[in-house]
Amino acid sequence: MKKQDLLSIAKEQGTSVYVYDAEKIKYQYERLRQAFSSVKKLKINYAMKALSNISILSYLKSLGSGLDTVSLQEVKLGLHAGFSPENIIFTPNGVSVQEIEAVVKLGAQINIDNLVILEEFGNRHPNVPVCIRINPHVMAGGNSNISVGHIDSKFGISIHQIPHLLRIVENTGMNINGIHMHTGSDILDIEVFLHASEILFDTAKNFDQLEFLDFGSGFKVPYKVGDIETDIEELGEKLTKRFHEFCKEYGRDLALAFEPGKFLVSEAGYFIAPVNGIKQTTSMVFAQVDSGFNHLIRPMLYGSYHEIENLSNPEGKKRYYSVVGYICETDTFGNNRQIAEINEGDFLVFRNAGAYCFSMASNYNSRFRPAEILWHQGKAQVIRNQENFEDLLHNQTLLDFQEKAVEA
Ligand SMILES: *Cc1c(COP(=O)(O)O)cnc(C)c1O
Repeated sequence: MKKQDLLSIAKEQGTSVYVYDAEKIKYQYERLRQAFSSVKKLKINYAMKALSNISILSYLKSLGSGLDTVSLQEVKLGLHAGFSPENIIFTPNGVSVQEIEAVVKLGAQINIDNLVILEEFGNRHPNVPVCIRINPHVMAGGNSNISVGHIDSKFGISIHQIPHLLRIVENTGMNINGIHMHTGSDILDIEVFLHASEILFDTAKNFDQLEFLDFGSGFKVPYKVGDIETDIEELGEKLTKRFHEFCKEYGRDLALAFEPGKFLVSEAGYFIAPVNGIKQTTSMVFAQVDSGFNHLIRPMLYGSYHEIENLSNPEGKKRYYSVVGYICETDTFGNNRQIAEINEGDFLVFRNAGAYCFSMASNYNSRFRPAEILWHQGKAQVIRNQENFEDLLHNQTLLDFQEKAVEA
C-alpha cells in the first residue's frame, strides 16, 4: 500500500493506529506455498500469537491457512474466526494437563513438549493422537530470547531423551501422529535449518503412525535495508527434496507443516503515531510521539529495530532524532535515526509492525490500546476500535471506604 494511503488513514484516525495490508499477507502466504509447491500435503499453520485479530485470522483462513495456537483462548478465538478444529494445532509450553484436555475437547490437534505431561496425558487418553515437540539443540540464530532450540531452552523434549520418550509411548499405548520442532525465531542460515531437519527425520523413524512432520518456523524477514532474510525459495527447493526422500524411506506420503508468524504478517503491518512535540536538549533532539511501549514494546523489550519514517514530510531534509514515547519510563523507539525533518503534528510510521506488536500491547499508564485497520482491496476497514474509558474500568470494582484518620 502507498504512503499516501497510510497518511490519509492516520489523519482520519487522528491518533496512534495499526494498519495491516492484506495484499502483503497474501503475497507472503503464496510465496511460502509456491516454494513448497511440489509437496502434496502442505500445511501452513499461521502462528496467531504474532497478530491475533479475528479478521486477520479470517483472512488467513480464506487463503487456505491453518492455525498454530499457544493457549486455550487462542484456540477459542480461532474457532470463533471460523477455523475448523482439524486445522488448529495447539503448541503450548508450560501449561497444565487440564488446559491440554480442554483443547482436546474442542477437537484441535495437540502438541506436547514435556515428558511428565506426556505420560500423564497418555495414561488418561491413550486414544487421542498426539504430536511431539522435540528440541534438536540447534542454534538457529538470533538472541537467546528468541532462539528456542538450544541446549538450555525450556522448549521441546530433548533429543537426548528419546529413549525415555519411547518407553512412555510404549507403556501408555498412545498414538504419536506428528513430530514437531521450532528452532527459534531467526533462521539466518538454511544449512542450520536443514541440519535440524535431519534430526527431525531421524526421530520420526521411531514412530510408525505418523501423519505429519512439522518444521515450525523462525523465517526471518528484513527489518531494514541490507538485512539478511530467510531465502524461502532455496529452503523450499532443498527441504522438499529431502522430505520426498524421507517419505519414500518411510513408506508413505506425510504432510509437511510449517507455522510461520512473523513471515506472514510482519511486513504487512504499519504503526502510525502523531508527534506531540520536539524537545531539544544540549545533546539530542527528541521526537515525542503520542504512543509508547504500551503500544509497541519490541524495541524496548528486546532491542528490535523498526524503520521510522515521517509520513507528513517525506521530502524534508534529513535530521537526527531519538524517537521516544510518553510513558513514564524510558521508552525509546529508535536512537539517532535519520528522519526527514519532523514537526509537531506530523505522523511517523513504524515499519514491520505486523508481528508481535499489537498482540503485546497493554494499558500501562492507563492508556487505551489503539485501533487496528485492515487495508483490503483499496479500502480501510476498522477491525478493532480504539479502547475507551469504559474498557479501562471493565472488570474493576470500586470499593467505598469510610476509614477514619487516626488521631494523633
Ligand atoms: C511463536 C511461534 C512460532 C512463530 O514464530 P515466528 O518467528 O513468528 O515465525 C511458530 N511456532 C511456535 C511453536 C511458536 O511458539
